[in-house]
Amino acid sequence: MLHCPICNFENTHLQSAYALEADSRQRKSDSEGFSEHGELYGIPSGGISGWRRGAVVLEFNCENSHRFSLRFQQHKGATFVIVEEAAS
Ligand SMILES: [Zn+2]
Repeated sequence: MLHCPICNFENTHLQSAYALEADSRQRKSDSEGFSEHGELYGIPSGGISGWRRGAVVLEFNCENSHRFSLRFQQHKGATFVIVEEAAS
């Protein structure tokens, strides 16, 4: 079960999902991280990852009005899961 990373409340709600494209400024950007027709990994692309590869981001809120996201970032054969808090 996904708990809020800010208050630990278990009532969380998925709000949106989008992809972030690979950063073309990265010296070894991978073509897998770039969208075709505005989609990456089959979901709409909403920006640049800042990493060599693209990412998938899921945004949530909790019932105590906190907002946070889970980011699945591919990097050197591993998938990082990054939790980011957003301003409420
Ligand atoms: Zn919360």
